[in-house]
Amino acid sequence: MHDREGSFPFENFAELREAGFYGLTVPQRYGGAEAPLAVYLGVLEELARGDGSTALAFMMHLKTFGQEREAPSYPERWFAHLCEGAVQRGELVNTVATEEGLGSPSGGGVPETVARREGDGWVLEGRKTFTTLAPVLHHFIVLARIEDGRSGDWPRIGNFLVCRGEPGLRIVETWDALGMRATGSHDVVLEGVRLPADRLLNEREAGSPDPRAGAGLAWFALGLCAVTIGVASAARDYAVGFARERTPNGLRPIRELPGVRSKVARMDLLLQRSRALMTDAERAWTGQTSEGMPPIDRVAVAKVETLNASIEAVELAMRVVGGVSLQRSRPLERYFRDVRAPLHNPPLEDRALEQLARRALDGAFEPPRAAE
Ligand SMILES: Cc1cc2nc3c(=O)[nH]c(=O)nc-3n(C[C@H](O)[C@H](O)[C@H](O)COP(=O)(O)OP(=O)(O)OC[C@H]3O[C@@H](n4cnc5c(N)ncnc54)[C@H](O)[C@@H]3O)c2cc1C
Repeated sequence: MHDREGSFPFENFAELREAGFYGLTVPQRYGGAEAPLAVYLGVLEELARGDGSTALAFMMHLKTFGQEREAPSYPERWFAHLCEGAVQRGELVNTVATEEGLGSPSGGGVPETVARREGDGWVLEGRKTFTTLAPVLHHFIVLARIEDGRSGDWPRIGNFLVCRGEPGLRIVETWDALGMRATGSHDVVLEGVRLPADRLLNEREAGSPDPRAGAGLAWFALGLCAVTIGVASAARDYAVGFARERTPNGLRPIRELPGVRSKVARMDLLLQRSRALMTDAERAWTGQTSEGMPPIDRVAVAKVETLNASIEAVELAMRVVGGVSLQRSRPLERYFRDVRAPLHNPPLEDRALEQLARRALDGAFEPPRAAE
């Protein structure tokens, strides 16, 4: 229903809140469960089996705490506020970075959204796109160009904390996309939003690395892997169930057909490989393995491979099910649309491949080492 209408699944979030999941990745010192990366991935995969949109949207909230736990970049007082908001008050948080002109901020561009220093505070002006969770977000972490009269060679950019209900903050319901239609990823308009000086959470020169370094990427990219594996697994299970039951004209069950059998086997191969790569990156990132490719590159490998494999697995599921897989009364066409959306979340494939190529081609020559 939400997919069809592009509406937001408020009831799913009410259930997640009720079950205590808002604090899953929040540190224990602020009352959260402080789930490790592996548990976070398991939860996302399971949620995505049921609904990709809910899983992807919830990931945006959960990853914030994982990233900050590992590589703190916000003032502790504001991090505590976000954590206690999630655990005690059921408040959701997400990053509000993308803009029409800027495209993906991971490209290192400068946002048009501006934060001007006025008196003892800031005034924000701009328009953001792709703000997942917009219908329910309480905390908007807005990326803006800083204009405070301090000169330097490069423009400075920073993340500002804006809270729902603050004058000048407006949501425009623009999200009407092919996939992940129930994520409420609308536009956010900031018109003269006045903030106290201490709402600047972190800052850097445009084009310089994210202050959370690899932690920013690992929690985000591996979360996307878990979501796409979950969606593809749901498609696989549907196709397998269908193949076991379907007997056209009461003759031979389609599960006996060699073409169907090899497609089902191939789906399992793709999913098994995806899970193995995601787990490999998670274990390397958390220091459980240290040989071979550096952890951050394994994250890039997992993102690229898992997404492409999940897309292929859903396509195979549709071929197994045949013509009725196109019907909107069945879930496969939704899986088909949802599974490809995270292709457009960072790290984008070209940038991930460039990251791998840079290490291989531009640094000192390192012959590949076999794992011992
Ligand atoms: C379902 C969904 C949810 C999202 N949720 C959020 C959210 O909550 N908050 C948020 O801020 N954003 C969100 N986004 C936005 C997302 O993170 C990207 O910013 C957005 O998809 C635009 O990325 P892009 O690469 O297409 O844009 P562009 O930067 O315009 O890129 C266009 C194309 O050019 C390529 N390209 C551009 N620059 C380079 C380069 N230097 N090297 C190689 N290739 C390049 C890109 O790979 C892409 O193919 C979401 C996106 C989706 C799909």
